[in-house]
Amino acid sequence: MQETENTYNRTLRIGVLALQGDFAAHMKMLANLGVEAKAVKLPAHLDDLDGIILPGGESTAIGKLMVLYDIRDVLLKKIREGFPVWGTCAGLILLAKETDNALAGQPLLASMDIKVRRNAFGSQRESFETDLSVPVLGEAPFHAFFIRGPIIEKVGPEVEVLATLDDGSIVAVREGHLLGTAFHPEVSGDPRFHQYFLRLVGTR
Ligand code: GLN
Repeated sequence: MQETENTYNRTLRIGVLALQGDFAAHMKMLANLGVEAKAVKLPAHLDDLDGIILPGGESTAIGKLMVLYDIRDVLLKKIREGFPVWGTCAGLILLAKETDNALAGQPLLASMDIKVRRNAFGSQRESFETDLSVPVLGEAPFHAFFIRGPIIEKVGPEVEVLATLDDGSIVAVREGHLLGTAFHPEVSGDPRFHQYFLRLVGTR
């Protein structure tokens, strides 16, 4: 079985939440991998998808728009039923059960057993690039772009840590069908994280 196909042997159909943020870069990466990429704005767009990516952007804005477009509760129900989701940066914040400084009432999906700190790198290092060791992607380091990213401060017992910075800060995690990265693999030109997510989708 090819990794771009699911168990029914058809091309995987992956949604990218397209309410705000850098969804276009994810769609391009998916298309390059031979996957059917679908922009998701409304609840009906979630039908017939094999998984979804929540892009980076502003988690407060994306959260509010999810409520406005009536998509949050539908997505939450699907997540509870095992729908594969990958959150990058703001998307990771939306997936976290705990955030240290979410704005009061900020709508979240609160599904992964992790605690994140938003804008964790402060003003000086708000954005930076670094080579990360990510053993599940193979030996070659993954060049990661952090753009006002969060860090993951705490993980629950079922959470697998996929990558840390040199100082030990956790920046990539998986919990069952949920994947989270504090950085932006869609701008790196390296498809390995997208391929990893597709494997997760295809084998569940
Ligand atoms: N700082 C943003 C937030 O808190 C996340 C930044 C990003 O997604 N690149 O939502």
